[in-house]
Amino acid sequence: MGICKVPGCSLVTNGYSTYCGTHKRCNRRQGHPQQKSVTLYTLRPYMERVTARIEKNPSNPTWSILCDRWDALIASAQAADAEYQSGVAFSRNEREAWSNIEKVGNSANAIQVVTAMLAMYLMRNDCPHQFKSEEGFDRQLVRRLRALAPHYSGEYYDLHTGKTKRVYRDTRPRTAVILTKLIKDTFGAAGLVVARLEQQEINKRQNDQKALQEALHALA
Ligand SMILES: [Zn+2]
Repeated sequence: MGICKVPGCSLVTNGYSTYCGTHKRCNRRQGHPQQKSVTLYTLRPYMERVTARIEKNPSNPTWSILCDRWDALIASAQAADAEYQSGVAFSRNEREAWSNIEKVGNSANAIQVVTAMLAMYLMRNDCPHQFKSEEGFDRQLVRRLRALAPHYSGEYYDLHTGKTKRVYRDTRPRTAVILTKLIKDTFGAAGLVVARLEQQEINKRQNDQKALQEALHALA
């Protein structure tokens, strides 16, 4: 047995893994042993910025094109389901990926999906250190997409709080890889552009601020 590979962790490794049990689980769920999950709470400010950009440019076709792309993805998911029902073989992960898309499609509208996905790109642009690796980012994309549909696998009653708690089931890592590709093919290019535009605006605001300060200083 060795020591967990994560810097600062002194726990012994779990089975054949190079990580301890906790970091092994985190790696499987979050795409990196030290990746923290992006919650709705942390993503919300970025979603608001995306919404503001949409409202500022309502006639720009980007939004409707992205919504159409998402609708096309749902149609592909439905087609895959129909093929499966008629006896075509699918891998378990592929089937799970398409079924996830269908579930989200049944619970959220296209603009909600577009907003959440673009917000992830804004967040990464603003706080790159939030994402420990590309895979860590990928997994958060999948988690935020899946969060748009109820995916809980069961409920239990918590004696301590007296509340019913939901237990969420994660996708298998291989399913997450398929979902990541579908999400990035659908929204990735637009996500990068919107993030760059936001960055340019932030830079411009900062430059304007600096110019004002310099001008005020020159007045004195
Ligand atoms: Zn560890």
